Amino acid sequence: MEITVQKTDNPKEKPDQGNLGFGTNFTDHMFIMDYSKDKGWHDARIVPYGPMKFDPAMATLHYGQAVFEGMKAYKSPDNRILLFRPEKNMERLNNTNDRMCIPRIDEEFCLEAIKKLVNIDKEWIPTAPGTSLYIRPFIIATDKYLGLKPSSTYKFMVILSPVGAYYPQGVNPVEIYVENEYVRAVPGGTGHVKTSGNYAASLKAQAEASARGYVQVLWLDGLERKYIEEVGSMNVFFKIDSELVTPALVGSILPGVTRDSTIELVKSWGIKVTERRVSIAEIFEEHKKGRLDEAFGTGTAAVISPIGELNWEGRSIKVNDGKTGRLAERIYQKLTGIQTGELEDDFGWTEKI
Ligand SMILES: *Cc1c(COP(=O)(O)O)cnc(C)c1O
Repeated sequence: MEITVQKTDNPKEKPDQGNLGFGTNFTDHMFIMDYSKDKGWHDARIVPYGPMKFDPAMATLHYGQAVFEGMKAYKSPDNRILLFRPEKNMERLNNTNDRMCIPRIDEEFCLEAIKKLVNIDKEWIPTAPGTSLYIRPFIIATDKYLGLKPSSTYKFMVILSPVGAYYPQGVNPVEIYVENEYVRAVPGGTGHVKTSGNYAASLKAQAEASARGYVQVLWLDGLERKYIEEVGSMNVFFKIDSELVTPALVGSILPGVTRDSTIELVKSWGIKVTERRVSIAEIFEEHKKGRLDEAFGTGTAAVISPIGELNWEGRSIKVNDGKTGRLAERIYQKLTGIQTGELEDDFGWTEKI
């Protein structure tokens, strides 16, 4: 399939690199392609970024048949443009599509489209330390119909946003509220895929935790409120004694690319990594024994986010005296070094555009 390109006549002014924030600025162009039953995915095009017109009856607006991905492009010191394991995101997008009754995409073609779009807007990739170009592929259901059924038409789109350093003052541990009332996902539900409704459903717990002075929530399993699942929109790891432990992918947990990379990296350092069920009671118990060395979240946005404090049912524990742990720091340095092309990519994880 050809990708047609219509360049903008009015390039925007680039934002100040010192003050980018997350997801507030968008580049000059976007990618769109349509789906219909008779034509399949068709009409692939790069067009000027801008608002779109939709019918108020559009399916996605009512029943949330919508999916997305999140990845980043970096400019290396020697001016290469790098993506980090992008084929993983395309594969996950199709898993999400399957769960949400959305037709599969051609993973290779969509990755080509993303590369072409990033290349056209490459001047937008920020270069200040910690910055990157966030890539947001997403699919929406576009039938004009209020009956509840899978849409027969869709739009796949990609937009780009230059984003700032997640930690302008360096990596900083955050305070976490262990959520005992609301749950993020249940077995048989949609927690293992990136569909919009999961995030809408998580806002309430997040808002109440913020009101209590916490940065994120730690999610427990939806059946027993016993086993740890994720932290905010990140996967979670605990260093207990000399071992790194993370919840196993039991179906209600999102399989993060950063999670997978962290496991592989840490194993390559000769440190034992275990994927298993881990209860919140066990974590508090190990802390009491002095064996809980570190806790941190992993995800594309922050890469590594250390946990400095956990509050569960009114009891609060400090992890590593509220400071960033040595292993978290080491993983952060290595992963971001590989992503930005500043360190040797021993794993073949980066892909040059
Ligand atoms: C996207 C996401 C993650 C992290 O996945 P990465 O591929 O590492 O960015 C973890 N948990 C949830 C709920 C997510 O949506």
